[in-house]
Amino acid sequence: MESLFCCPVCGGVLVREEGRYCCQKGHSFDIAREGYVNLLPANQQHSKTPGDDKEMAAARTRFLEGGWYTPLREALCTLAAELASDAPSLLDAGCGEGWYTQALAEVAAAKGGRLAGIDLSKPAVKKAARRCPAGEFAVGTLYHLPAADSSVDLLVNCFSPLAAGEFARVVKPRGKFLYVVPGPRHLWELKEIVYDRPYENGERWEEYPGFRYLKVVPVETRFTLRDSRAIQDLFGMTPYYWKSPKSGAERLAGLDRLTVTGQFRIHVMERTGEE
Ligand SMILES: [Zn+2]
Repeated sequence: MESLFCCPVCGGVLVREEGRYCCQKGHSFDIAREGYVNLLPANQQHSKTPGDDKEMAAARTRFLEGGWYTPLREALCTLAAELASDAPSLLDAGCGEGWYTQALAEVAAAKGGRLAGIDLSKPAVKKAARRCPAGEFAVGTLYHLPAADSSVDLLVNCFSPLAAGEFARVVKPRGKFLYVVPGPRHLWELKEIVYDRPYENGERWEEYPGFRYLKVVPVETRFTLRDSRAIQDLFGMTPYYWKSPKSGAERLAGLDRLTVTGQFRIHVMERTGEE
């Protein structure tokens, strides 16, 4: 079966065979027991495990499985269903443990299409591949995507690093790009605890070469975490975890209940150019 992935060595199309992916030039990549493949570029194959580690992946999985971000996942799926062509190729660029990916794969399947997910974190990709056997998953970098030019109908990037140039390369003309970022008051109540003077996130409408804006869809939810571990799992997913003052982190560690706002923006873009 022809894959959505391409060879990280020569760029040729990969074909999925029993237990491995191969390109026409004979480069071959084994499929791990969990069903994913490592497609990091050759010069990064042996670097020390990059991406989120096992504990971070586990904490994020626990939090996401609490369902607090379900409104965001539903909004993404609604947009994907509305925007994707028939028999679409979906790419989740920065798929993490596949919590959003699994739902997007169902949207793709319902339209007779398919889905691939890529993430730099091997522990995360392992989980995603187990969670979503219908999809294809690869360990890879968003800055050198193992996907061919103009091969993707809908690309999703949810709280992951943005590699706009690579995204423009792989998305087909008229293809869509869903880019999820935090809203100005995302996790405001948590920030009020960890910072003495919290600030709002900026609203950015950046023009990315090769894309034009269709719309920005706001999603907002409020939820109450009822134990310290859930609060810490959420905190660990945020950039504040690395940046907040120690006193703030201690104040948060003392809480076993927190009501917090989840505020998201889904930037909906279309690839420019001729089909
Ligand atoms: Zn090759």
